[in-house]
This record gives sequence, C-alpha cells and structure tokens, in this order.
Amino acid sequence: MPASPPVSDLDEDRLLQTLHEEQRRIGLRLRPVSVVFNVGFALLFAILQIWPLAASYLAGSLYYLWVFRATNAPGYRPNRLVLWIWLVIFAQALLAVLLLGPGAGFQLYLVGTLLPSFSSLSRPLSHKLFQGAVIVAFFLLCDTWLASETPLYALTPRLTAILRHFNILGFCAILAWIAHAHALSAHEAEQVLQRIASSDPLTGLFNRRAITELAEREIARSQRTHQPLSLILCDIDHFKRINDSHGHAAGDHVLQTVANLLQATVREYDCVARWGGEEFLILLPDATAAGATAIAERLRAAVEACVISFEDQAIPVTLTLGVSLLDPQENWHAAVNRADEALYRGKTGGRNRVETGV
Ligand code: GH3
Ligand code: MG
Ligand code: MG
Repeated sequence: MPASPPVSDLDEDRLLQTLHEEQRRIGLRLRPVSVVFNVGFALLFAILQIWPLAASYLAGSLYYLWVFRATNAPGYRPNRLVLWIWLVIFAQALLAVLLLGPGAGFQLYLVGTLLPSFSSLSRPLSHKLFQGAVIVAFFLLCDTWLASETPLYALTPRLTAILRHFNILGFCAILAWIAHAHALSAHEAEQVLQRIASSDPLTGLFNRRAITELAEREIARSQRTHQPLSLILCDIDHFKRINDSHGHAAGDHVLQTVANLLQATVREYDCVARWGGEEFLILLPDATAAGATAIAERLRAAVEACVISFEDQAIPVTLTLGVSLLDPQENWHAAVNRADEALYRGKTGGRNRVETGV
C-alpha cells in the first residue's frame, strides 16, 4: 500500500499563513478597545477644556474608525497600518505628557506597545529589540526628563491623581485584553493546525494518520458496545492510465471528484479518508460485513455511473473495493490487511467490483 503524505509535505506556507492570519486577528480584536479609549479621552478633555488633547483624541477616534473600515477592506496592508498606529500612540502620549506632566500617567500606554511588538512573527528579533529600546527610551524620557519640565496645563493634584489611577487601570485592562486576544488566537490557530494536520490537502478528506486515530477510538467503542465495525478499502482502477492519457491535473480532478462522491454516498457517521495515492479507506461504525458490502456496492455503482469530465473530456472511472469486518480481538492493521487482500482479489478478478474479506 502506498504511504500517506507525511505531515512535512503539508504545505508549510499554509501553516505560516494560518499563524499570520491569527496574528492579524489579534490586531482586529484590539480595534474596539482603541476606539473606546480615544472617544472617552476626547470627551474628557473636551469637558476639561484642554482643547489640544481633546483634538488629539478626537483625531485618534477618527483614525481608529478609519482603521475599522480599512482592515475590513480586501488587500489591506497590516504592516503599514501597525506603523501608523504606533506613531499615533506615541504622538498622543508625548502630547499628553508635555501638556499635563508625567504625573497623569499617559506614558504608560507606550509600555503597552511592547507586547504587540515582541509577539510579531514576521519581524526578526533584532528589529524587536531595537523597537523595544525605542519604546523604553521614550517611556523614560516621558517619565523622568519631562518630569522636571513645568506642564503647560496645571491640573489640580487631585485631578492628576484621578487621571493617573484611571490610566493605570486602563493600561492594565489593555494588557489583560491583549493577553486574552493572544489566548483566543492561539486556540483558534491550534484548531486550524489540527485540521490541516489531519486532512489531505488535495481532497480535504481525513488523512491516513487521522483515520488511524479515529479507528482506535471506534475499535474501543465497538469493544465496549459490542457493535460491529467494518471498513472498506477502495482503489481507483487503472488510475495511472488516467494520469498518462489525460495528464496529472486531470488525475487530481478525478481524485477530488471521487472523494466528494464517496463522502456524499456514505452514511453521515461513516468516515472517509484518503489512505494514500488513489486509495481511500472508509470506516463504518455499526455496520456488519453484509451491511458494509452493500454500502461498498452502492459506492462502486455511484462512481461507475458518474460522468467525470475534465477540459471537455469525459473520463470513465471505476473503483475496486475490499470489505472487512473488524474482529474486536484483532488489531486494526489485521483488518486493513484483510480488506487489502479482498481488494487484490477484486483487481485480479477483473476490477470494478466489491470483494469481502473473511
Ligand atoms: P490498479 O487498477 O491496479 O490499481 O492500477 P493503477 O494504475 O490504479 O495503480 P498504480 O499503483 O499502478 O498507479 C497509481 C498511480 O496513482 C500512480 C501515481 O502516480 C498516481 N498518483 C498517486 N497519487 C496521486 C496524486 O495525488 N495525483 C495524481 N494525479 N496521481 C497520483
Ligand atoms: Mg493503488
Ligand atoms: Mg489503482
């Protein structure tokens, strides 16, 4: 039997793309927080009549609303956007510290940018360290050097303390939200990777590894419930000829069409997998050998009756199928071998037929 595609054959780009997509989603999850903070500060500074800051946060609100639209548009460039978000955060923090002094705590938001910077997958560590150094230097500049300057707007000590406490709370909330967004994205990425690792890229069916794991679970269930468990091994007849006479792309199209047909023809709780090359394996819980043979016959007839066409050429396709019933005392490989022997009998007996293993 041919070997199934190893995991390393699974398109590496697809895995990286998944991780990058999840990183992008972290950014998207932070958008509402940014809008709420900016609108809140714009209102607060309007009430306090500190107009430069009210204008700065109003501009920030409009910018983040624009980001909302831009990130939903197709083909947006996340890297360029992140740079601008950085600049906006820096400009707003610097202006707030210059006008109100470091006592109000607006420099804290600079430190918050360390997290997204260092969690990026696309930038090398040297860039991150440079970025980190810039952030920390800026923070120290705001926190210490500007402390000696007289703020342009003299708030009362009480209002300054309220703002500082609010900013500490806000900063903590942002950190917590970033951590939460990372956890959600890591979980989603894990699920996507799990799906990629257990599926066959060409047909979308389970791969050999996934069905082997599933079979172990089904065998344990069948032993517990004393229900039968059968399997069908299917092989496309003379598939090499299809490749040779119609081309590899046509062969791929046939594999995909047969995979869809098998999936559509079996029962809902049966599990179809690409076992390797042009072979498919179907696990049939609660099916006796007779029941599985009837299903195999249905599959054979469905494929024979299907007109598969590729680039205006009709490609006749047939399947040979081997059926076996799992004995609860034997291991999975023994049952697969019996299905394989039955399949071999079907091949030597003329193909396009169903054979049942003893
Ligand atoms: P038989 O009826 O005895 O099964 O003959 P066959 O030609 O179907 O079997 P054989 O094992 O000689 O050839 C299988 C071919 O399947 C050879 C291989 O190149 C082709 N194949 C395996 N995987 C793929 C694939 O992903 N895409 C395409 N197009 N061809 C594949
Ligand atoms: Mg084969
Ligand atoms: Mg074949």
